[in-house]
Amino acid sequence: MDYKIIPLNTGTITLDQGAYCTLGRGVGTKVDTPSTAWCITDGKEHFLVDTGMCNTERANKWHHEGFQPKGGRIDEQLMSRAGIRPEAISAVFFTHLHWDHCSNMKLFRNARYYVQARELEFALNPTLPPYYRSYEAPILGIEAPFTGCSFITVDGDYAYNDAITFFPTPGHSVGHQSVAVRTAKGTVVIAGDAVFVEENMEGDPGQLLEFIPIGRYINYFEMWNSFKEIKRRAALVLPGHDARVFNKSSYP
Ligand SMILES: [Zn+2]
Repeated sequence: MDYKIIPLNTGTITLDQGAYCTLGRGVGTKVDTPSTAWCITDGKEHFLVDTGMCNTERANKWHHEGFQPKGGRIDEQLMSRAGIRPEAISAVFFTHLHWDHCSNMKLFRNARYYVQARELEFALNPTLPPYYRSYEAPILGIEAPFTGCSFITVDGDYAYNDAITFFPTPGHSVGHQSVAVRTAKGTVVIAGDAVFVEENMEGDPGQLLEFIPIGRYINYFEMWNSFKEIKRRAALVLPGHDARVFNKSSYP
């Protein structure tokens, strides 16, 4: 049976468009973006890609203006959108460990957690101070969602099974990865924050830009190469902070 990919909306984060979504385009324009996680299911086995954002109070105190509505927490979204209980999730594949991608991960107590080794290493010790909040570093006096969790770390490409593959897409974060799912309609790439919005992949041919960079990155070269790798693999790209992914209730 083929996999179905269901978008889950764990809340809204208000971002400056030009500073986060499309570099230099839309500076000063505030946009409400979804904090998206994904369920992959074939009806028998159920997986998550990321677990979304935290509650409103915590988001506003430590991160960005935004909110998590009632029913927006990842386990509530999973039940209302996919009819799946948290205990039934057998694995969570993390694109990266920023706060809005791994909050409440401990709710999935039967799941194995997969992440790139480089991402986990940096998340546990974010040596660049502007990233303290992104990873909810201990120096802030708060506890990160992944504190005390054990992960299965992967290094580079990893085939979870014959239909689901993770591959490195660094640039937004040190050890970011994307998840490729082979479906009846071709390969769907769940891009995490390697791609914030559709426009990143559309580029701007008039400016000789194959892609439009995201605004939040730790390595510009890697970000660009990750766009290329995603384009090479994907029949369809699912971005991490684009409300239009909710125009459909499932993919492909
Ligand atoms: Zn991120």
